[in-house]
Amino acid sequence: MADDPIQNLKSKIQNPKLSEELANWLEFYHELGIEEFYRRAPGSAPPLAAAHDAARVGVHGHAPLVQAVTRPVITEGKPVVSAATAVPPPPARASQPVVAPAPIRPPAPSLSLFEAPAPKLSGPETLEQIRADLGDCRRCKLAGGRHNIVFGDGNAHAELVFVGEGPGADEDEQGLPFVGRAGQLLNRMIQMIGMKREEVYICNVVKCRPPGNRTPEKDEIETCSPFLFRQLEAIKPRLICCLGAPAVRTVLGIKEGITKIHGQFYDFAASKALATVHPAYVLRNPREERILREDFEKIREFLKGR
Ligand code: URA
Repeated sequence: MADDPIQNLKSKIQNPKLSEELANWLEFYHELGIEEFYRRAPGSAPPLAAAHDAARVGVHGHAPLVQAVTRPVITEGKPVVSAATAVPPPPARASQPVVAPAPIRPPAPSLSLFEAPAPKLSGPETLEQIRADLGDCRRCKLAGGRHNIVFGDGNAHAELVFVGEGPGADEDEQGLPFVGRAGQLLNRMIQMIGMKREEVYICNVVKCRPPGNRTPEKDEIETCSPFLFRQLEAIKPRLICCLGAPAVRTVLGIKEGITKIHGQFYDFAASKALATVHPAYVLRNPREERILREDFEKIREFLKGR
């Protein structure tokens, strides 16, 4: 087409190879949006020409790292080859690399290294995080019969943690541990040793009420107890008081009868642990309250010492 500058240009150059090469260049710059070209005055060598030549052979005679290129110049619609530039050569279309846009980075902080707050290192888990992980738990069959998950209650930094067996009807109703009759007896024992319920932390081996207040089953304990261990790890109490056989078995792995091992101190991680009879057992066997009292006095003595 006569109006097509590229065709026009090609027709004016006798050397077909040069003509083709120039046409490629023009198309390349056209795609970059560069449309205007100017002729340099005859004899005025471009300042970059020497660098261009050096780049072609490399400063030490080796191939250059960056290939210098020759930019086509058009004058009066006629192409003239000139000036070296840092623009990369137009590779064959098919091999043209696709360059991902540079990532947008947030502005550099304006505070110096010494002024900026120290980055928050991830420390031990919090009770909130463990509770969030438990979520609306459906991990075992107890989930189907519960009204509320009874996660635990009290001081997250308690020196003394009580571990019961599992929620009863009142606890399931309110979502809080030891709020029924057994809980009232536990509260009295806590007060007896000069403490308040808010000072301690109370939780259970399983977080959902077993049907008919039956003892939690092996698979239920295996599923739920990791959350108990994480709670104990988060609180790091000085003393853990296991209330009843399931708590003793789960926390201490002791299968012997409570009446034999109660009141003795065991190691549990960095804490000590002690077993005593469950308050519900004492409610059914009032003469056994003596055991509970004795063991609570041991708790009092232990917590007094440093
Ligand atoms: N018995 C338990 O073992 N836990 C409770 O929360 C209530 C009663």
